[in-house]
Amino acid sequence: MKGTTAANTASSCAACKYLRRRCDQSCFLAHYFPASKSQDYLSCHRVFGTYNLVKMIKSVQEHERHEAVATLVLEARMRVSNPVHGCLMMQRVLQAQIDEHLEELDAVKKKVFLFESLHSQIELLDDQLINTSLAVVPE
Ligand SMILES: [Zn+2]
Repeated sequence: MKGTTAANTASSCAACKYLRRRCDQSCFLAHYFPASKSQDYLSCHRVFGTYNLVKMIKSVQEHERHEAVATLVLEARMRVSNPVHGCLMMQRVLQAQIDEHLEELDAVKKKVFLFESLHSQIELLDDQLINTSLAVVPE
């Protein structure tokens, strides 16, 4: 019984399993959504629909399809978790982090510039002090 379930799970892709259809060698989605990625498929199915999903994957060149599927899965997951903003919410959060880090970087650059100018002033004063003390030393 357990072996039979494992064999069925291994033979059907996530799409065919969900759509309750026979999965064979010609199944287009089996390559991108194996049974282990059923949650990824469900998210994509909910957001794009299987027809549009297949259409979008086929519109991309074959060597870029796995990356395209990964992007579609990410988009679908974001849309499922945040139906109003989807990926835009993550973009805004990341943009805010970038802005925050750029401000921090700017502050650090200003401090580095300040310390460099102080260091050069100290070196200049040291040189003047050495020259003055050498001039004062009696021979
Ligand atoms: Zn299939």
